[in-house]
Amino acid sequence: MKIIILGIPGSGKDTQGELLAKKYKIPLISTGDILRHAMAVHSPIGKKVAAYIKKGILVPDKLIDRIVKARLKHKDCKKGFILGGFPRDIAQAKELQIITAIDSVIYLTIPKKEVIKRVSNRRVCIKCGKEYNLISSPPKKPGICNKCKEKLIHREDDKKTTIKRRLEVYKKQTKPLIRYYSKKSILKKIDGNRPINKIFNNICKILEK
Ligand code: AMP
Repeated sequence: MKIIILGIPGSGKDTQGELLAKKYKIPLISTGDILRHAMAVHSPIGKKVAAYIKKGILVPDKLIDRIVKARLKHKDCKKGFILGGFPRDIAQAKELQIITAIDSVIYLTIPKKEVIKRVSNRRVCIKCGKEYNLISSPPKKPGICNKCKEKLIHREDDKKTTIKRRLEVYKKQTKPLIRYYSKKSILKKIDGNRPINKIFNNICKILEK
């Protein structure tokens, strides 16, 4: 199972990716999470990418390609993997094609007005990357991660001006991937504007067909 989850920011890529990873016992590789973690621990990569992330623009392809390539070499990816947030443009997709073949691309759709609602209510654990939504899936204890008991934050790039920029970047750079993968006949379009478990069951059915 080599899967990509594609979708506009806030479409539920990480939420569905986590559920799929648990069910099929394959890793979720979320490039956003990897980069945020690198920033949190002030690693050299974290320092390099911070300015891009703050502005809401993509980090350079070469850097992200290198990170993903190294991650996919890990033993835990042998049975398969879920890529969330990668590829983000055609150049990354072409690079990925050189590294490995992909079986399915799950394309999560949500109405644009839903995006702002979701990202303004999204909170994330800076330690483990787990995401919460203050309305649909709040943490048990306000402001604290259920899993690792760390503090939750409202991502700087989920705030109003930066999310606007990220949506522009999505339209210009990431959206062309829909055509790219649909031409390869591996794109599966899923209505992401439903309860989490309904979307999840729908994805599993499609993957197990
Ligand atoms: P995400 O959590 O997937 O929304 O990613 C947050 C930010 O990390 C993006 O706005 C980009 O700045 C950066 N990022 C994540 N994945 C990629 C990628 N595949 N290519 C370039 N930049 C990325």
